[in-house]
Amino acid sequence: MSASREDLKQRLLAQARRRPRPAAAPSVGDAKPPEEHGAVSEHLTRFDAHPAYQQIALIREGARRLGLSDPFFKVHEGIAGATSRIDGRDCLNFASYNYLGLSGDPRINQAACDAVARHGTSVSASRMVAGERPIHGELEQAIAEAYQAEDAVAFVSGHATNVSTLGYLMGPRDLILHDEYIHNSALVGAQLSGARRIAFPHNDPDALEALLARHRHQFERTLIVIEGLYSMDGDVPALPRFIEIKRRHRAWLMVDEAHSFGVLGQHGLGLREHFGVASEAVDIWMGTLSKSLAGCGGYIAGSRALVEMLRYLAPGFLYSVGLPAQVAAPALAALRLMRQEPERVARLHEISRYFLERARALELDTGHSIGAAVVPVIVGSSPLAARLSHALYEQGINVQPILHPAVPEQSARLRFFLCCDHTPQQVDTTLDALITALKEA
Ligand code: PMP
Repeated sequence: MSASREDLKQRLLAQARRRPRPAAAPSVGDAKPPEEHGAVSEHLTRFDAHPAYQQIALIREGARRLGLSDPFFKVHEGIAGATSRIDGRDCLNFASYNYLGLSGDPRINQAACDAVARHGTSVSASRMVAGERPIHGELEQAIAEAYQAEDAVAFVSGHATNVSTLGYLMGPRDLILHDEYIHNSALVGAQLSGARRIAFPHNDPDALEALLARHRHQFERTLIVIEGLYSMDGDVPALPRFIEIKRRHRAWLMVDEAHSFGVLGQHGLGLREHFGVASEAVDIWMGTLSKSLAGCGGYIAGSRALVEMLRYLAPGFLYSVGLPAQVAAPALAALRLMRQEPERVARLHEISRYFLERARALELDTGHSIGAAVVPVIVGSSPLAARLSHALYEQGINVQPILHPAVPEQSARLRFFLCCDHTPQQVDTTLDALITALKEA
């Protein structure tokens, strides 16, 4: 450094020492030597002092005091379906989204192996620049066919699908109205878009209608976002009503079918089949490959213009790697098997209904669940939900507690996910164990 620059630096440092400094975290690229950060409180430099870390520590401490093990991040040693091997023990499993039992099916595994043998394990970059594999187009065509839509596009993550689609499609002059229980991925996408975002009460089209009457005219585009099957409650929206409202108010309607595709409708074709509505009555069909379709990733199905726009410009598609072939291939195989073996969907419907009816007969509070793959048992207290989950796990039954703040404290619950391979005996064993645990608690 030249003498004059060194001199200038010393003068600036001396000036800075005299000036009171705000207690803000140093910005990225701040090149001052460490001793110059003396006025920054120590806690602002430590990850273990971050409020998010402290929240986790608080939950852990609460669980420790109740003598409970951490119910999260359990390690499944084999295939997680109706049963699973956890901690060296075979358990009944009600904590996976393997609704159609297709993850682990030898034919699906083979599809993954064949794809890997042909294309290797990575497609290395964005499909736009690094090129497509035949499986990409085949998968997207099959999804578009399943929806009777003009086209479909598949992203590497379900979460990224919502973030990118909402974040890209909507802008600061637009309005997003969403069910208050919408998934985090849609919320993050809505925030990213800069659009005005308003939540309406869960499954309440009248409240949506009132919001539209009040706000629609102030905005350019308006998007309504709902889910096909809500994963906390196992209930569904009154789709025809939402369609009628969105038409009247010249808004777009987006349905997230993460949990409803493969589950609802006689052939598992989702909310559209459940209500018998035309595909184009909904503007944006979104779904994931990670649940019924036994893979990983997400998709959007709809008009050619919508899909083309996302394919060329949505950041999570354009700037992110394409689906690896060994992930796309099993999802496509699962979609084909779902259509060839409709008895899987029928068995899922049957066992889910059986669970719901038995639980109701035992006077358990199953909320608004319609008995399609997702049935909560609401127990009204987070510590109780955690204790029940622990007690069931001790008996070889794996079910997740849903605790405050994920849900309001009074609706803390156990959440049961059904798989078409569950048997009535397994359901009976589980509900009997739950009743016993409730009595003991
Ligand atoms: N939408 C909904 C409704 C979800 O429940 C989830 C995750 N469970 C996602 C989107 C994100 O999907 P993925 O986990 O496949 O990224």
